[in-house]
Amino acid sequence: MSSSTKLNSTLKTLIDSKQYEEALKHFDQQPGLHTDFSIDMAIKACTMLHDYKRGINILQKLSSNSLSNHYIQISLIRFYMECRDVDNAYRVFASITNKCNYSYTAMFKGLRSNGMPEKIIDLLEEMKIEPNNFTLTLSFYACAQVANARAMRIGQKLIHKLLNNSRNEDIVLNAATNMLIKFGDIVNAERFYKSVKNKNNIMYCAIMKGYIEKKMFEQALDLFEHVNLVKSDAMYTMAFNVCGKLGNDRAIKIGNKLLDELSDNRKSSTANLTSAMHMLMKFGNIQNAERVFELIQKKDVIAYGAMIKGYVDNEMFEKALDLFEHMNCDLDHAMYTMAFSACAKLGNDRAIKIGNKLFDDLPDNCKSSTATLNSALHMLMKFGNIQNAERVFKLIPQKSVITYGAMMKGYVENEMFEKALDLFEEMSLVKNDALYTTAFNVCAKLANDRAMKIGNKLLDELPDNCKNNTAILTSAIHMLMKFGNTHNAERVFELIQKKDVITYGAMLKGYVDNEMFEKALDLFEQMNLVTNDAICTIIFNVCAKLANDRAMKIGNKLLDELSDNRKSNTANLTSAMHMLMKFGDIQNAERVFKIIEKKDLITYGALMNGYNMNDQSEKCFKVFEEMKHHNIVPDESTWTILIGTYSQIAMIRQCKYLVNQIPPHILNKQQIQNALIDMWGKCGAVEAAKQIFNTVSEPDTFTYSSMINALGLNGMGCEALNVYKQMPHNLRNEIAEISVLNACSHSGLLREAQAIFNEISVKTEKITGAMVDCYSRMFLFDEAEKLIDDYEKTKSPSFVMYMSLLSGARNNRDTILSEKIFNRMLSLFPDEKDNLMSSVILVSNTYSSLGEDEQAHDFRSHHQKKLGTRVKVGLSWTEVNGEVTGFSAYDRFHPSSLKIQAELSRIAKELIENGHQFNSSCITRRLNEGETVESVLMGHSEKIAIAFNFIQEPIPEFIQIRKNLRVCFDCHAATKLIAKIRQRDIIIRDANRIHHFQRNGQCSCQDHF
Ligand SMILES: [Zn+2]
Ligand SMILES: [Zn+2]
Repeated sequence: MSSSTKLNSTLKTLIDSKQYEEALKHFDQQPGLHTDFSIDMAIKACTMLHDYKRGINILQKLSSNSLSNHYIQISLIRFYMECRDVDNAYRVFASITNKCNYSYTAMFKGLRSNGMPEKIIDLLEEMKIEPNNFTLTLSFYACAQVANARAMRIGQKLIHKLLNNSRNEDIVLNAATNMLIKFGDIVNAERFYKSVKNKNNIMYCAIMKGYIEKKMFEQALDLFEHVNLVKSDAMYTMAFNVCGKLGNDRAIKIGNKLLDELSDNRKSSTANLTSAMHMLMKFGNIQNAERVFELIQKKDVIAYGAMIKGYVDNEMFEKALDLFEHMNCDLDHAMYTMAFSACAKLGNDRAIKIGNKLFDDLPDNCKSSTATLNSALHMLMKFGNIQNAERVFKLIPQKSVITYGAMMKGYVENEMFEKALDLFEEMSLVKNDALYTTAFNVCAKLANDRAMKIGNKLLDELPDNCKNNTAILTSAIHMLMKFGNTHNAERVFELIQKKDVITYGAMLKGYVDNEMFEKALDLFEQMNLVTNDAICTIIFNVCAKLANDRAMKIGNKLLDELSDNRKSNTANLTSAMHMLMKFGDIQNAERVFKIIEKKDLITYGALMNGYNMNDQSEKCFKVFEEMKHHNIVPDESTWTILIGTYSQIAMIRQCKYLVNQIPPHILNKQQIQNALIDMWGKCGAVEAAKQIFNTVSEPDTFTYSSMINALGLNGMGCEALNVYKQMPHNLRNEIAEISVLNACSHSGLLREAQAIFNEISVKTEKITGAMVDCYSRMFLFDEAEKLIDDYEKTKSPSFVMYMSLLSGARNNRDTILSEKIFNRMLSLFPDEKDNLMSSVILVSNTYSSLGEDEQAHDFRSHHQKKLGTRVKVGLSWTEVNGEVTGFSAYDRFHPSSLKIQAELSRIAKELIENGHQFNSSCITRRLNEGETVESVLMGHSEKIAIAFNFIQEPIPEFIQIRKNLRVCFDCHAATKLIAKIRQRDIIIRDANRIHHFQRNGQCSCQDHF
């Protein structure tokens, strides 16, 4: 063996056993024996040692012959690449005349380790020979890494080469699969993956990662279950994450099984346990997550982070804070971010304390994290600590749109809408979608001049890409609707291409807010989407508001179509029940009430409200008892409804029974006090109303108007006027104005009424009506008619105003005026048949009052036939021994009817003895056989109710009656006498006012009724 050959084999042995220094020592010691082979070996050794200097030293001594040796050239490329001298590697590569796959592989590998995948693609494009498995594999990795349009195009081209080749090596297929996953091309990736025979963990990981990135979690699980190899930790981690993501039955089963099977040795992997814990938290299995957390020996920030995040996701913010307080490692900025959000969520004293302390201790390096500062800002805003939030905002060096968004949202939550707008105007960044939405919502909230200007400008300048964003346009619709600009809202609505239920919902709600109920129904009928709960509720409420034929049809149809699953929605059914009540369909409303499984306070409230509006308030007593039986504790609004119920029943003793049950802390609420003033007023207990009024420290509009109305109803016009004068101007509203005008009118205070009327700037139908009524009561018909004429110049005629005129004419016994008014009503309101019938009775009464009974009867029967309606039956209610009993006129069905009849006869006898003359003008029909004027008038329901009180033992201290119509002249005169003869106070509330009949034979109304 020659010495050269010996050196060659020594060097090879040394390098194969990785003794590079030793090899170089042998090489340097025998310079005379160098061959191309030993030189190649020496360069390899320098490459492995990253010894640039020595390598260059060897190179400088090389002959041009050696430099053109193909093996040496390739080794040199590797050497330069490994020593990060890419330029010289390129120079050597360029000098190679016959470039083979071998040299390309060296270049590709070098470029890859130097992090220059783009350059690999460049070389690949210049390559004139067919790539082999090595170059292909490296090219796929390069394309995957670059993953831009060019890389994807070239990558796909390479794939086609693969498809034409039936004998691909697994390594190539692996790389191709990996690339396709990186490109997001899962379909082709699966195809390649299936053609690979020897799948390995790296490949499984790649595919699983691909699925996860594409959110194909079920497929990721399928794959994991099919893997037969011993799975890597990375795969376990991924599987836990996937199970956590899915959170369905299968994932829970697999996830828990995996956790059980986890070998002890894997249990030392913090990453593995952390992801298992994360999964359990996702499953809501806090207990096991805590157990796993205990298992982790080396708890790092990530483990703590996962645990805390788990608590936060499960809304166990207190537990999250506990952990914060217990952890020993330094918080990173992500942990601070999480801590701030947890404190923001809790917002209690402890959270405020911890949150503020964490914020004070925030290390400087975290102060550069915009995300951390954003969440600190959010937290401070939640705490209502605006000043500090503003300070943090100023601290943030690079304010992103998210920062501005958080700040604006904070202002919104603290109801500082103007400030939110200021900030929005200050901002010079390009606005993102969320910011537009917030800005529109802020403008909607404010709806003042400035907001309208900004909102409209923003909408005009809305960039085109936002015009495809349904959420932004929906909030714009909401804003325009709040501005009352329904026309533009409709235009924006037309713009939206993909109208979803939320868009329709915003539009419908807008119509409702603008009281355009018919339009809401039009839109609803156009809608082709499946409705959601919110829309059902809106439509039921719209139908309830309208309560006309069309609304009844649509509302009932919607109710019929309500799917079973929506039938479990209490809010929905409650609004349906409310609608039926508005339709007067009590029976079906009660049926709906029965099917509501989870009845809440609102449900009970709606039922009672429904009874109240349908004059069946007495049914509320049973509902109230049922609530008590089910231990449902009424809240403030339920008590308000109940008080409303009792104010309709209007029986003093019943009201006292109710008030005794209201807890003191509720009794102190102003809303309740206002309702009580109204209730006491309506049942004639003005003193009780006054007492409450005097305890209210800051009376509001309702306090004043309830008191004015209470005084007015009870004929205390002067006092009502005084309260109105006390009422600050800014609190006065239509209700107070109507109440005071009515009070003046009922007490004959004409000049005062005129003065008030002249002061009122907006004269609505009801206000003008009250003044017309006032004139009519004083028989000032010219003034009344002039007011009506003026009113009708701009508005459509009002039925009530004519009714006032007509009843004035009746009181004045003016048949000519009566007929004139009636004929005008017939032509103005031909469709209001029920109401016209009331006016027929008034005209007929006018004739009777002059003794023209024939005329009265003819007029009445003629029009009754023409209108085809029935006369309303008189009904009276009275309270005796804690029970409210109702009587109709000529009632003979009461169990005590015989006793009542006997009492009525006694009363009639006493009345005649005391000079009462039965007033035949109060009879508006022909007498039947066997009837007398006396017997007909004694059959009026209020007289029966009075008699019922006198057959009680003992006779009640005072008698209280509520009547659905106005009290007639005869009953009024008779009741005054009865109060005097029998020495009992009698209170009668009729459709118009409250009469207090006193024991001296006077009535509080001074016969003004
Ligand atoms: Zn009567
Ligand atoms: Zn009276």
